Amino acid sequence: MIEARELTKRYGDKTAVDQLSFTVRPGRVTGFLGPNGAGKSTTMRLILGLDAPTSGSVTVGGKPYAELPAPLRAVGSLLDAKGAHGGRSAYRHLAGLAASNRIPRRRVDEVLDLTGLTEVAGRRFSGFSLGMGQRLGIAAALLGDPEVLILDEPVNGLDTEGIRWIRGLMKSLAAQGRTVFLSSHLMSEMELTADHLIVIGRGRLLADTTMRDFIETNSRAHTLVRSPEPEKLRSLLEAKGADVRLDARGGWRVDGPDAAAIGDLARDHGLAIHELTPAHSSLEEVYTALSQDSAEYRTHAVQSPHAVRSSRKETV
Ligand code: ADP
Repeated sequence: MIEARELTKRYGDKTAVDQLSFTVRPGRVTGFLGPNGAGKSTTMRLILGLDAPTSGSVTVGGKPYAELPAPLRAVGSLLDAKGAHGGRSAYRHLAGLAASNRIPRRRVDEVLDLTGLTEVAGRRFSGFSLGMGQRLGIAAALLGDPEVLILDEPVNGLDTEGIRWIRGLMKSLAAQGRTVFLSSHLMSEMELTADHLIVIGRGRLLADTTMRDFIETNSRAHTLVRSPEPEKLRSLLEAKGADVRLDARGGWRVDGPDAAAIGDLARDHGLAIHELTPAHSSLEEVYTALSQDSAEYRTHAVQSPHAVRSSRKETV
């Protein structure tokens, strides 16, 4: 279990992590979600004792990382995929790590097998593709057979096959009762992988909830409507207090009255309806809105996910 309490990290006058409290529990994949610059990597570095908090605390299994008797056996991590450079073979890289952490040599073969690297184990990893490098990083994280896994943006830059593989591996590790904590800036990735979500923006906690609750609470229902007399339909709907917007697919996106009410209203006014489709906003939309709110908290001028990222860079 990972427990953060009022965790805060400031770099000069920049607050990267702001009074963050959360618990990451075993037996499920917990997604750590937030736009670029939200403070995910900083939080992970604080968990792993690579940086010291300005205030607050974070523990793994009840202890600060630095006090764990055998850290590599307790916590496996993948922070920077490019961390593994060099002329050594994948096998020797892992064997070196195993030796310095008193992990039996046979475990090297096991993790090579688990990550599908057995056949390339003798190759220098300086020639590895991004995907193979990522697998090697995960092999290293799994070497100590740890109860807790912390992976920062593990699918970044991977092809679909690699992404699917990581997703399956994370789920199976959680199913074995391990604690799996995985960061991403992409909701689409989390939607398929995580059971639980911790969402941050600007270093602050925005949501800490099960994926199912997040979907139920946040994916608001609306209705897509098409009519050969769109303006007339819009006036009627707005007169009833509905929020009517142009949908990206054409037609109106209506918030407020449900499909039945919209259909009845059109019939009462002799208006033809060519489409009436109940829909939900995607999690991507919900997440974008959520992270924009947190950005506007300080910048006020954010329009789009792209703008969120660029305005963050400028304010760093
Ligand atoms: P994320 O992983 O969510 O993209 P980070 O934790 O990398 O976010 O960064 C959070 C914020 O803290 C960013 O504004 C970043 O520029 C800043 N930051 C991170 N590390 C440092 C550092 N060593 N010195 C100064 N600022 C930093």
